Amino acid sequence: MAFRITFLGTGGGRHTSMFQVRSTGGMLIEHDGRFLHVDPGPGALTQMHRIHYDPARTDSVLISHCHPDHYSDAESVIEGMTHGGWKRRGHVYGSTTAVEGSGKLGPCLSAYHRELPLSCESVRPGDIRVIDGMKTEFFRSIHSDPTNVGMTFHTEFGKVSYVSDTEFREEIAEQYVGSRVLMLPVTTPRGNRIHFHTCTEDAAFFEDIIKPELTVFIHLGVVIIKKGADSEAMWVQEKTGCRTIAARDRMILDVGEELGISDAPCFDDEWIPPSSV
Ligand SMILES: [Zn+2]
Ligand SMILES: [Zn+2]
Repeated sequence: MAFRITFLGTGGGRHTSMFQVRSTGGMLIEHDGRFLHVDPGPGALTQMHRIHYDPARTDSVLISHCHPDHYSDAESVIEGMTHGGWKRRGHVYGSTTAVEGSGKLGPCLSAYHRELPLSCESVRPGDIRVIDGMKTEFFRSIHSDPTNVGMTFHTEFGKVSYVSDTEFREEIAEQYVGSRVLMLPVTTPRGNRIHFHTCTEDAAFFEDIIKPELTVFIHLGVVIIKKGADSEAMWVQEKTGCRTIAARDRMILDVGEELGISDAPCFDDEWIPPSSV
């Protein structure tokens, strides 16, 4: 029952997203033979093609909030999951904005796409769901989409958390205490703190409170990419003593007794997924 995360994208923020400096396709989580796609932003479809992953295998889709770098490919991913819209299957979870819409945000899925899967429901901080047989807890963030949710997956090899976009506050970090692996959106580098996001110094604050075995930087903005995400991660590791890395597109993290890091094979061909024939 291994738990595997494939990082379809490691970029974040509007500039990385619009220029596709790095992909912003979210994460594909494989657990017990089932697949959960978290935050299918721009590039998700391209990256799935590149690693020869058939979206018909996806069992659930989760959208943390209603910003395009987290949802823009979601409708096509849902069409893949439902075999072109012909087979009612799979489950969709999302923030209130993503699923229902609130104020000027969302919904980010059309009524048609919300009806394709077996269920489509909104999740709020404090909620617990069993997704693909895995207990998943949702947490609060401080972000420009106030309904944004972070989350912890309870795997048999420990808690794996995805913080999602937020500012650093002690009470936000404390929600993730006990996490073995922390996937942390670090949008900007040292000396570049911006409202509603996490910078490199904040990453160290998160680690000081949570003390994870491994922190993985994701959601990299153009400035941190330009400065060097690896060296920013190394700075945090030296400061906190916690292992810290910057993810790369199509990187695989296996969470078992040990933590394994590798890269998915990447193809550039006209592969046609089995579900289409
Ligand atoms: Zn974002
Ligand atoms: Zn956001």
